[in-house]
Amino acid sequence: MTTLYSEFQNRVKKIKLLESAYSVLQWDMETYMPPNSDKSRGEQLALLSTLAHEHTVEPRVRELVNQLSQSSELTPEQAANVREIKIKLDKAAKISPELIIDLNKTMVDALTAWNQAKKAADYNIFKPYLEKLVILHKRRIEQTGYEGEPYNSLLEDYEPGITAAEVETLFAQLKVELPKILRQIQASGVKPRTDVLLRHFPVDRQEAFIRETIAEMGFDFSIGRLDRSAHPFCTSFHPTDARLTTRFDANNLRTAVGASFHEAGHGMYEQGLLIGNFGLPLGEAASYGIHESQSIFWERFVASHPGFWRHYFPRLQAAFPEALSDVSVDEFCFAWNRVEPDFIRVGADEVSYCLHVILRFELERDLFSGNIRFEDLPEIWNQKMQEYLGLTPPDAAKGILQDNHWAGCLIGYFPTYALGYMYAAQLREAAQEQIPDFDGLIERGQFAPIKQWLNQNIHRHGKMYKSKQLVERISGKPFTVMPFVNYLQEKYSRLYK
Ligand code: ZN
Repeated sequence: MTTLYSEFQNRVKKIKLLESAYSVLQWDMETYMPPNSDKSRGEQLALLSTLAHEHTVEPRVRELVNQLSQSSELTPEQAANVREIKIKLDKAAKISPELIIDLNKTMVDALTAWNQAKKAADYNIFKPYLEKLVILHKRRIEQTGYEGEPYNSLLEDYEPGITAAEVETLFAQLKVELPKILRQIQASGVKPRTDVLLRHFPVDRQEAFIRETIAEMGFDFSIGRLDRSAHPFCTSFHPTDARLTTRFDANNLRTAVGASFHEAGHGMYEQGLLIGNFGLPLGEAASYGIHESQSIFWERFVASHPGFWRHYFPRLQAAFPEALSDVSVDEFCFAWNRVEPDFIRVGADEVSYCLHVILRFELERDLFSGNIRFEDLPEIWNQKMQEYLGLTPPDAAKGILQDNHWAGCLIGYFPTYALGYMYAAQLREAAQEQIPDFDGLIERGQFAPIKQWLNQNIHRHGKMYKSKQLVERISGKPFTVMPFVNYLQEKYSRLYK
């Protein structure tokens, strides 16, 4: 059995190596590739993805997985690796090659149409492509099958183990609690000075501050990089090679600094996966939601903590004396944590953020159950925006066309953003109980025990557990919205008196 397992491991690792080479080229495309080199890059990417696909569908891989699935001699970790690969192969085998080609082609056209539609603020330019994408995804769901409702099949791609009905229950509670907190904040009449983040902050000094701070948090620059791109992201090719990107705005300190803290959280997860498991499911992140929980944990629960700024604000002030000499640490921290509903999800504060996600989840789910018509989407979007956040977008570019997730075939992905917040909040509660002097560590800038706790409890397990199971295992409590709601209530009643 051990020889069979090592053959399985070698084959699976080879597929991962091809996929990570693909990711290197993709990263380069977003960062350093000259603008007119896309044609040759397209050929390189197509070759690597074809090779990876060929290695995946080789009959021998299926044979090995079938034999190993029957075996009782595997360790629990080995059995989990086989289980996860089997799920992946089973799903892939059900989808027809024609449908994959059709989806990819439609996605490219949809992204182009979305770009034009957003520029013109005209939903009708994008509508036919969205309709076609939904039809193709419905076909995909028919082919793969589903449990409960069709939407579950999409959710399963990003957040295995959680159903749309469970998400609905969690979101129903957030829909009550979050607007309540928003109303309390608005009724308080207290307002931070937000101008302090919108002064002039020279970009080279921002970058120096970011590099120093995320290195102290625990992002290891000997096995990682930080570069620039149009939209911040994190990618990784191996636990010894994680790449972050950010985007600078000399007149807004949050743009690069906030995004870098967020991406560093993703990067530390990738660096914390076990090298010995590279190529196997246990060497991969548990889910998109858990990945997001790690970025939220660092961005919001560590790097927005008042103690964090008591430690770092003097350095920031020294780096930007012109902009910050007349600002106190409390004023800065309040501005950093200000709550102000906006049309745009990206950059939303932590009270309103999940309401943006809930809106998208509800629309997606209704599209797949046939409860709404495509022509009514912008109107329903605006109604929900008014209902949840008290705002009506001035046009479709600031409304339904603001994200390109649907055009990019990320349908069923949005819930992972809000689940990430809720997982992170429950993990933070557990960390506070289990790490001695959690808040004091943040205030002293001593992040090593926090990072080690995340490494031990989350990172090293890879895909051993489903996300909810992982969170419940660590916290010893059922997964609920309450840690998140309690955190917000406590924090904002203090800030907004
Ligand atoms: Zn993220």
